[in-house]
Amino acid sequence: MRKPIIVGNWKMNKNNAETKAFFEAVDGVAASENATYGIGCPFTDLRTALDGAKNLVVAAENCHFEDAGAFTGEVSVPMLEEMGVKYCIIGHSERRAMFGDTDETVNKKAKRLIEANITPILCIGETEAQYDAGETEKVIREQLTGSLANLCPKCVANMVIAYEPIWAIGTGKSATKEDAQNCCAIVRDQVRVMYGDEAADQVRVQYGGSVKPNNIVEYMACPDIDGALIGGASLKEDSFIEIIEKTK
Ligand code: PEP
Repeated sequence: MRKPIIVGNWKMNKNNAETKAFFEAVDGVAASENATYGIGCPFTDLRTALDGAKNLVVAAENCHFEDAGAFTGEVSVPMLEEMGVKYCIIGHSERRAMFGDTDETVNKKAKRLIEANITPILCIGETEAQYDAGETEKVIREQLTGSLANLCPKCVANMVIAYEPIWAIGTGKSATKEDAQNCCAIVRDQVRVMYGDEAADQVRVQYGGSVKPNNIVEYMACPDIDGALIGGASLKEDSFIEIIEKTK
């Protein structure tokens, strides 16, 4: 039985005071035996978020795969580990498009996070042009082949994979539940091909892309969707609380 996991991705939003206020308003609501709720926040907010989180889990939004060195502006996995961070988003399409993340670097990040017992939330998904060209399945399988290379089946079983069609991120143009289910099933099948039944049956697959209080329930009802990665609707206390209350 897979425990659903719903995580907000704040991107480059919120300062410490806003983070504290959000956790004060939302953390108590997030207490649930049935699902895990969390927030991915900027590095500068992690301490405040961790201090305010009794029920929510806290995710970093990125990491470097090297432990230390001449990488100005980067944050390493041991630094996150020391803070007590337990989840880290990697390979978000914004990082792939604007900051040079590739399947190869994302794979290195996944390996290093797994070594540190930090759960990677690995993001993949096709562009609008790839969707229009009917290449979605090919793109999903290729991204997973690269990003999940040379890991162990148990490691992959414990990961979270977020399928996020890029054309649905921040656009209000969410995927139909049929498309989202179909693509999350492809994600699971590719894990099966690479790491076998146990990993495929255990890995949690999220859908991400304009998930809101008014569509979360239909996504969560899909058999291969085990949660959501949520940008815009995680920024406001009210909408994130509504999402939690509809899925607890
Ligand atoms: C995201 O940031 O990963 C995302 C899915 O954003 P939104 O929910 O705003 O589309």
